[in-house]
Amino acid sequence: MECPVCLDNFNTSIHMPYVLPCGHSVCVSCVDALIKAHNNFCPIDRRDFTSRDQLKPNYDFLEVLQAQITPVIQNLLCCNGHLIEELVTVTQNCEICDKRRSTLWFCITCQYGVCDKCKNWFEGSRSVIEPGLKCYRSHSMRLTEDVQKYYPKRKGVFLCDGCLKKSSGSSTHCRKCNVDFCIECYQKLIELIPVATNIFCTCKNQLAWRFSEVCGKCKRCKNAYKKSGSFLCLKCKNKFCIKCTDCIRRNR
Ligand SMILES: [Zn+2]
Ligand SMILES: [Zn+2]
Ligand SMILES: [Zn+2]
Ligand SMILES: [Zn+2]
Ligand SMILES: [Zn+2]
Ligand SMILES: [Zn+2]
Ligand SMILES: [Zn+2]
Ligand SMILES: [Zn+2]
Repeated sequence: MECPVCLDNFNTSIHMPYVLPCGHSVCVSCVDALIKAHNNFCPIDRRDFTSRDQLKPNYDFLEVLQAQITPVIQNLLCCNGHLIEELVTVTQNCEICDKRRSTLWFCITCQYGVCDKCKNWFEGSRSVIEPGLKCYRSHSMRLTEDVQKYYPKRKGVFLCDGCLKKSSGSSTHCRKCNVDFCIECYQKLIELIPVATNIFCTCKNQLAWRFSEVCGKCKRCKNAYKKSGSFLCLKCKNKFCIKCTDCIRRNR
């Protein structure tokens, strides 16, 4: 499906679909261009929309896009792409959680082992393919719809490293570093990363998302983030958390 303005196919980055109040979708780049040119109306039915703040990404459509890119069957594969089907008694670190285990799902050719818990988690989650969505130590992350199934000890509650709030349900997770992002932070991130150049630091320079630049003390809210990247000002090196970057964008 393509954007009715630029005719490029919708994607999860600069052509992310946004829903207008009339229900039609236009990509984020074209929404910005329309607003800049004061042409605040739908290119299809000419109904107007007032401000950018009212518009949200078309989440339903994004889900369809992601399902197209992500394979449906989440078979456990070793680092070299072999299917892992054998449970073996061997003492070595699990490649996913890095914990020492004595039984592992194992690729004998590559000596690659995954513990039972991680196998279960892997098969019940999907890879996160959005650019920039990695853990602060550069590992790729996976999205679990309901943490309760996979982390029974946590009783379905986890601390989100993106907003530091207790959260439940869906989590974007790195099992090596124990990083979790709640669904709100995940959605804010995929919304903010492509438009960060239109969001400005107090020094008027634009921001950019850096997953590996630990936010630390956010310049605006002063909260201490230990396992989240940051929206960074490359000029003055100010770092902003996900929530504050969203607030700055909405002028709140
Ligand atoms: Zn477009
Ligand atoms: Zn319309
Ligand atoms: Zn493991
Ligand atoms: Zn292998
Ligand atoms: Zn969060
Ligand atoms: Zn990690
Ligand atoms: Zn903040
Ligand atoms: Zn700055």
